[in-house]
Amino acid sequence: MSGDRLLDQVQPHLLSAAPYAAVQPPEVLAAKLGLPVDRIDKLDANENPFGPSPKALEALANYRSYHIYPDPVQRRLRESLANYLGYGPEWILPGAGSDEIIELALRLFVPDAGAILNFPPTFGMYSFLASTFSQNVIEVTRREDFSIDLDAAISAAAGANLIFVASPNNPTGNSISRDELEALLETGLPVVVDEAYGEFDGEGYVGLVREKPNLVVTRTLSKWAGLAGLRVGYLVCDPAVVEIAMRIKQPYSVNLAAEIASVASFDDLPLLQDRVATIRAERERMAVALEQVPGLIVFPSRANFVLCQIEGIAAKLVQTELMERGIMVRYFDTPLLQNHLRLSAGRPEQTDRLVEALTEIIPQLRG
Ligand code: PMP
Repeated sequence: MSGDRLLDQVQPHLLSAAPYAAVQPPEVLAAKLGLPVDRIDKLDANENPFGPSPKALEALANYRSYHIYPDPVQRRLRESLANYLGYGPEWILPGAGSDEIIELALRLFVPDAGAILNFPPTFGMYSFLASTFSQNVIEVTRREDFSIDLDAAISAAAGANLIFVASPNNPTGNSISRDELEALLETGLPVVVDEAYGEFDGEGYVGLVREKPNLVVTRTLSKWAGLAGLRVGYLVCDPAVVEIAMRIKQPYSVNLAAEIASVASFDDLPLLQDRVATIRAERERMAVALEQVPGLIVFPSRANFVLCQIEGIAAKLVQTELMERGIMVRYFDTPLLQNHLRLSAGRPEQTDRLVEALTEIIPQLRG
């Protein structure tokens, strides 16, 4: 084995893996612009602009036993989630963000060289993680209005082991209807409905899990509960599958701080739900204001962000100009989403700064 390099031992499919396009911390931009970090308007990752609940912050500060490992089966967190959802804890599996839950779904249901069915444009994590496992991604592109092409989806399902559908979808903001979901469930494949933004939408489909044995619903505390940095997500599905997932997952992936802050958040539910209502109202106000900006086409959204298309200007240019002003947004210049921006609903003054900046920047760039 002469001359072998460590690099040569890496699994071949990983050598050319594209990295996940993750967002940068606001401190990086603040340092570049010479501004304090609280002057940055972070509207690029659909985070909660109001932060964690006061009770969560208090519980984190008051807890003392961080030197002890977390509960490997998250008893307190699953109990809180059970009360919140109206399911017994045996239906619920928490993880380090819904990202870990997505990975777990791939490990549970997709064999080596198997495939997922994906509906782009959508959240990049499904295809990204599948590719790291050497799994295939069958893509059925959404229609012009971002709805799912059901006929194409159902034919393509024959070659897949698992279906992912985000509802509301990131970055398009639309949700799947009950009839569409039922049609996907009819394929008999496990269907993961990713409701990371479910609380901004309404009921969602958690209630349907009891009736539909192949339905898995995932949710997160990152958005509505303002805990993105602590990484808490979960799935709801058939207890027999939860039991297996419990055995194969990393036991301590939900750390103690995450568990404590989550449990305390459920004790602060009315306040957090008020904030959700405020964010929804702000999303609507932002959408109306953006519609007044010449050159912007605004898509309806049921989440805590709005997608828009900028007529004739590369979105990257607009994103760069906004960044110069301390405003962080997500842009897309891909074949499926040309010249698009995704704008998170922030605090009212952040929306005002964003709309004002776009009103200046877009006419300038169009010349
Ligand atoms: N699903 C969707 C559709 C998302 O947009 C996101 C976050 N961007 C996630 C899942 C991941 O959420 P978490 O922070 O719980 O990992």
